[in-house]
Amino acid sequence: MDVYGLIGNPVGHSLSPPMHEAAYQKREMSARYVTFEPPADAARKAIESAQTLGVRGLNVTIPFKQAVLGAVDPTPLAARIGAVNTVDFSTTPPTGHNTDAVGAIRALTHHGVNVAGDAVVVGAGGAGRAIAFGLADEGVSVTVANRTVERAEGLAADLNDSTATESARAASLDALPDLLPKADILVNATSVGMGENISPVPSSALHSGLAVLDAVYTPLSTRLLQDAAEAGATTIDGAWMLLYQGVEAFEFWTDVDAPVTAMNDALRKRLSDSKRED
Ligand code: NAP
Repeated sequence: MDVYGLIGNPVGHSLSPPMHEAAYQKREMSARYVTFEPPADAARKAIESAQTLGVRGLNVTIPFKQAVLGAVDPTPLAARIGAVNTVDFSTTPPTGHNTDAVGAIRALTHHGVNVAGDAVVVGAGGAGRAIAFGLADEGVSVTVANRTVERAEGLAADLNDSTATESARAASLDALPDLLPKADILVNATSVGMGENISPVPSSALHSGLAVLDAVYTPLSTRLLQDAAEAGATTIDGAWMLLYQGVEAFEFWTDVDAPVTAMNDALRKRLSDSKRED
């Protein structure tokens, strides 16, 4: 039996196990997906131990996404983002991927969004970095708006240093009403809206020409997405990004086409079950 899994601390509420287990079942694979909670300072040891034990692949979440960089051979994209969320043990040293970036792009394309033009990424933390790199690599002009403007400036500079377009800009959240009328894509990559009915974006700035992806997935229907739907925008919830980062990981690890519908159904079932438990 092949073992895959997740390292993080904590990992108790992870949605990855049902999503990957559904894929193994659908593809009739003899595999299990196991969660591990190593101590926060034990990233390298966790990777080495997993390799020794014959684990085939690991997802990586907080607080290990940056720390595992030193224990793997990161892809150029993961190195530029500065974080790894998927480790593939079929190579020596193991390869560190960042599938959050492509997860966001595939969430957009799944909904028919033309990934081009101007995007505003709200947030410059881990998710914001990955999404901004993903969009910039597609040739999109990215403006990063963040509460802490210096962090947005750092991300914009990193994007301009390492992508062909060199068109990234930084802004404060106050600039959103000026930025959004010209934007084609809006992504919320802050934690604002997670478990609370608030939005980081003024509703009056939203319009029908926007595609709006909210990285937040608890709840699925955030205040931002409700406002965006009212404005006539295309809306994409955070579970789509989560789904496609998992789909990418599954395919790196197994070389098998991911059963996307089965994985999506399992993910959404777990999200609605956990909502009922609240
Ligand atoms: P993070 O690294 O801690 O970054 C948090 C971001 O939110 C920063 O930009 C921070 O701004 C901003 N922020 C926090 N509180 C704020 C507030 N009250 N007002 C305005 N901005 C605020 O977190 P992360 O890992 O990037 O995660 C961000 C969100 O994305 C979370 O909800 C997470 O669950 C979600 N996420 C989703 C996926 C997916 O697959 N759907 C993947 C990864 C993350 P400052 O820089 O000013 O602090």
